[in-house]
Amino acid sequence: MTTGAGMDIVVVGAGIGGLCAAACLLRDGHRVRVVEQSARPGELGAGVQMSANAMKVLEHLGLRGALEPHAVRPLAFEFRRWDSGAMLHRLPLGAAHEQRHGAPYFQLHRADLHGALLAAVQALAPDALHLGRRVQGVEERSDAAALRLDDGSALDAELVVGADGIKSVVRRHVLGDDRPVFTGQVAWRCTVPTAAIPPELRTDVVSTIWCGPQNHAVTYYLRGGELLNFVGCVERPWEEESWTAVAPWEELDADYRGWHPMVRAVVERVDRGACFRWALNNRVPSPVWGTERVTLLGDAVHATLPYLAQGAAMAIEDAAVLARCLALPQPLPERLRTYQDHRAPRTARVVRESTEMGELYHIGDAQAMQRAFDERNIARSRNEWLYPYDALRGPLTAGPA
Ligand SMILES: Cc1cc2nc3c(=O)[nH]c(=O)nc-3n(C[C@H](O)[C@H](O)[C@H](O)COP(=O)(O)OP(=O)(O)OC[C@H]3O[C@@H](n4cnc5c(N)ncnc54)[C@H](O)[C@@H]3O)c2cc1C
Repeated sequence: MTTGAGMDIVVVGAGIGGLCAAACLLRDGHRVRVVEQSARPGELGAGVQMSANAMKVLEHLGLRGALEPHAVRPLAFEFRRWDSGAMLHRLPLGAAHEQRHGAPYFQLHRADLHGALLAAVQALAPDALHLGRRVQGVEERSDAAALRLDDGSALDAELVVGADGIKSVVRRHVLGDDRPVFTGQVAWRCTVPTAAIPPELRTDVVSTIWCGPQNHAVTYYLRGGELLNFVGCVERPWEEESWTAVAPWEELDADYRGWHPMVRAVVERVDRGACFRWALNNRVPSPVWGTERVTLLGDAVHATLPYLAQGAAMAIEDAAVLARCLALPQPLPERLRTYQDHRAPRTARVVRESTEMGELYHIGDAQAMQRAFDERNIARSRNEWLYPYDALRGPLTAGPA
């Protein structure tokens, strides 16, 4: 039986999930290599929200100090009507979130979060990163898993962790060639300098979800308030081959015609040559995450609509739980099953509730929408099951989230 510490592990993918896994595993004394297809891994120029459940892991990795100077700490989530701006529901964040859940709520620029994780991995193991190398396939023997790379070489490992995102090659080895599912929703993503927004239109330091018929938009501040992040999520078909496309500004403008002046102010000030539109895909949650020597993590196994702002947070939780499970005094396949059985229900709930949030945010009729928000009581629900979770402590049992 392989003992908990000191395994040879290859993590495929240097996104937020893969880097966080590498950092957690290196801290626990494993030998870790991270194989990344891109020569210069990074993140797109957009925001990412980190709630206490993820921040606890980032704090455990010693990253609070590196992130804090870049972070915005929102006072609340405010759910508002798309046209009048009338408040539908409010979820206090800020000091209340940190007091209740033991870690802060940060809004970060993705580059800042990714950069901090990259620096953490490099500080722990300067030669851990293998960049510009694409994994093409996985083979498994009883004593090792072997990765086939695009340059014809192979890498052996005692354990392979597939953190290679929604189009995961490692997932194909575990679960076959099941395709991601287009959700019928697309996301516009852009940032504008806050100084460009007229002061009278700027909201408090909150994350605002503007809810409208078959469409919602999210605005929140980044980088000490210098930037305003905009995500616009619209129900519409997708005909492009690629999942990301630069789209005509006129289409963004049409999607948000008649919306609240704050939303209009953003739409009118975005860089018209750089309006990015993304197809939003997810997958039916799988209870199976791995084989004897291969496991999955992050979007590779639980890609979700982003409407709980938890996709990266779940990848970060996965990373911490995987490291804990690998320290259990069990044969490796059992340790991997403990990880899978503990994580699958919670991440499946995130996928399911994210889809439900899309339905809630897109109700057309104002009164029906208010009733649905009252019934759902998002603040109570998320404070009960989502944010209190602690990936670093607590029983590693299977079961409900
Ligand atoms: C509009 C939007 C807003 C979001 N907002 C939030 C938010 O506020 N909070 C939050 O927690 N989440 C959010 N998410 C979700 C979050 O972005 C993702 O869940 C997260 O980035 C997934 O990280 P990952 O490391 O699993 O995968 P990825 O980021 O996709 O990383 C995968 C890595 O693997 C590499 N790779 C792929 N294939 C191979 C291969 N064959 N060989 C080698 N390398 C390979 C890729 O190059 C990449 O670097 C949002 C998502 C969207 C679309």
